Amino acid sequence: MDVEPVASHLRSMNVGQVKTAEPLGRHTSFRIGGPASVFVDPDDLDGVVRVLDWVRDESLPYFIIGQGTNILVSDVGVDAVVISTSRALKETEVSPPVIRAGSGLLLTKLCRLAERSGLAGLEFAISIPGTLGGALVMNAGAHGGSMVEVVESVLVWDAISGVRRVPAEDVQFQYRQSRFMHNPWIALEATLRLKPGNPDEIRDKMRHNMEYRKKSQPVGEPNAGSIFKNPQPHYAGRLIEEIGAKGWREGDAAVSDLHANFIVNCGQATAHDVLTLMRRIRRTVYQRCGVVLKPEVRWIGPGEGGADATWENLWYAEGDGLTEP
Ligand SMILES: Cc1cc2nc3c(=O)[nH]c(=O)nc-3n(C[C@H](O)[C@H](O)[C@H](O)COP(=O)(O)OP(=O)(O)OC[C@H]3O[C@@H](n4cnc5c(N)ncnc54)[C@H](O)[C@@H]3O)c2cc1C
Repeated sequence: MDVEPVASHLRSMNVGQVKTAEPLGRHTSFRIGGPASVFVDPDDLDGVVRVLDWVRDESLPYFIIGQGTNILVSDVGVDAVVISTSRALKETEVSPPVIRAGSGLLLTKLCRLAERSGLAGLEFAISIPGTLGGALVMNAGAHGGSMVEVVESVLVWDAISGVRRVPAEDVQFQYRQSRFMHNPWIALEATLRLKPGNPDEIRDKMRHNMEYRKKSQPVGEPNAGSIFKNPQPHYAGRLIEEIGAKGWREGDAAVSDLHANFIVNCGQATAHDVLTLMRRIRRTVYQRCGVVLKPEVRWIGPGEGGADATWENLWYAEGDGLTEP
């Protein structure tokens, strides 16, 4: 990408902050990732849409980032316009039992708003870091609940047809998947239908879920949540524990002692360290348990960034010997 003309055009649009060669490690919970050629942090929804329209019209590669809690960014970075939702897309409107919220809002803030409004249904989400947008893409879930249970519709920017509202059934939520992964869609806001509830009971459930999380996951160390999806009916964490991988280390990336499906950055870990560890885990689980683990964290880097296909390409290119993706 021809960085300077792109950055200078984006600056002339007056949509918000525009940086070049921005280290993405500053924007990911793993604290890993090389630079984005151009990084834009629009001020509001109009700015996000204008940037998206322009990069589409110019056929520029682009990528949207929320809080970066579910991505592994390549050490060489991303030659694309990376668009952040961290300042824009935070508006909320409560008309019980419905909440409308911008996709840049932190999921925890959304949960607290529901609690204060006496609306139940989001208790499962209190301990999930990241934005509402990221949670929609992944159909994020925990403690037996997931986004599919509360989403009524999503306002999307569609690269083909522009801004439009999509009913939840068209988003095709599945376990840690949605149509966002395969469509040129960006979530701008979502309408959630909750249920009237007792604020004290909602708060108690949230507190319980937070406490459970603190005991069972390495929340104080840089990580990106569950590394592999649960290969139903199995649990990835249990399989990884069975092969004795807790404590395995490659460079500064290590399998957490607290939860085997978490890889933590012990200091200066690189994406290469994490990939090497993931490959070792994956190969050993396959050899000993006959199960092929698929990544839950999304790969952002050379290749197509994001789609599972990119992972498959990575595994095959590096010849890990598994016949299944
Ligand atoms: C300690 C820890 C615990 C976690 N626990 C859980 C858990 O229990 N359950 C769970 O499901 N996840 C969990 N996660 C993973 C992560 O928090 C969720 O997937 C979260 O929803 C990601 O949101 P984000 O804003 O950080 O997304 P990012 O990491 O910024 O992005 C993730 C993907 O979504 C895309 N994206 C982001 N915003 C938008 C948007 N507005 N429109 C379109 N695409 C978008 C990005 O391009 C990227 O492909 C955990 C992570 C950590 C670090």
